[in-house]
Amino acid sequence: MVYFVGAGPGAEDLITVRGADLLREAELIIYAGSLVNEKLLLGAKAGCKVMNSAEMTLEQVAEAMKAAERQIVVRLHTGDPSIYGAIREQMDELDRFGIDYEVVPGVSSFCAAAAALKAEYTLPGVSQSVIITRMEGRTAVPPKEDIALFAAHQATIVLFLSAGILKEAGARLIDGGYSPDTPAAIVYKASWPDEKVFRTTISGLYETAHQNKITKTALILVGHFLGGTYERSKLYDPSFAHEFREASK
Ligand code: SAH
Repeated sequence: MVYFVGAGPGAEDLITVRGADLLREAELIIYAGSLVNEKLLLGAKAGCKVMNSAEMTLEQVAEAMKAAERQIVVRLHTGDPSIYGAIREQMDELDRFGIDYEVVPGVSSFCAAAAALKAEYTLPGVSQSVIITRMEGRTAVPPKEDIALFAAHQATIVLFLSAGILKEAGARLIDGGYSPDTPAAIVYKASWPDEKVFRTTISGLYETAHQNKITKTALILVGHFLGGTYERSKLYDPSFAHEFREASK
């Protein structure tokens, strides 16, 4: 059995209880070495084999899983495996081999970034949608998902995998309709001991990253959810009744 486990954003106590239990039981752990906190591996049981997928191809990962067919295998991915985790291709390999698997979700870095900013992505009267996307790199982004097109919505934008191309990202966001002074933030290594948070504007993104030497392991957050104005929620409004509470005035 293979468990695709979300390791969480970095801090070793931000893995789920289910994920941590599986790490203790695993006989083979294949972890994404570039971003997973290696402290998570310390609880592995004696004799557990540990492999770093950063040095492996899809075929090698699949072979290693196949060789451990009758064992408990944990494939440890950073954040939540469903976000830029490349798990689909691994699951398809396992289907081909007839090996069973399950996915254990994790705390994505975009949640840890909001926590670092003490921010709410979905502020009433500001934005009720979060667009998770990336700038095109070696992986192509479908033309219909160009961030200039997303910018037109003025919703909350979370940019993964883009810290190294912020000059272009800023320009595309402004082309798409955001004003250059729209609030933006860079969160580097959210939840790690060396986490850094920078608040800026779209026009300041590139300089901020450049001055602080941020080129990777960072998220870019854009939108007026980082600003000062919003409306109160209906949920906790005294005049708003719902299933669990009557209106008080
Ligand atoms: N599955 C992961 C994302 C993997 S893609 C998740 O759910 O978070 C790798 C990208 O995620 C990095 O380039 C960076 O943009 C972002 N990232 C991962 N961990 C991060 C962290 N702790 N802080 C900020 N960004 C992070």
